[in-house]
Amino acid sequence: MKIKGTCTRCGREFLVEQVVQNGGRCPWDGQPFEADYAAVLVDSLRDAGSAGSTLENALEKTADMQPEFTLDLESVIGVLKQHIQRLERRTGR
Ligand SMILES: [Zn+2]
Repeated sequence: MKIKGTCTRCGREFLVEQVVQNGGRCPWDGQPFEADYAAVLVDSLRDAGSAGSTLENALEKTADMQPEFTLDLESVIGVLKQHIQRLERRTGR
């Protein structure tokens, strides 16, 4: 899953995988996004990307089978949305 973000310092967009490859630094300004917990941040971003891809593939496979049910969208994205919105509140945007 290609998760995108925006640096609150330089305002430029990045892909989460670029931050993982860059050791937790902004690919544009080179500054760490989290000075004290860079390794934890990198692990979390890597997990989010790969878990997102796993979820995406599983749901695609499920939808391809056209089973006799629907899924509740909010039960899948609701909690994810909450965590992402926490980041937006923190940066005041
Ligand atoms: Zn930046």
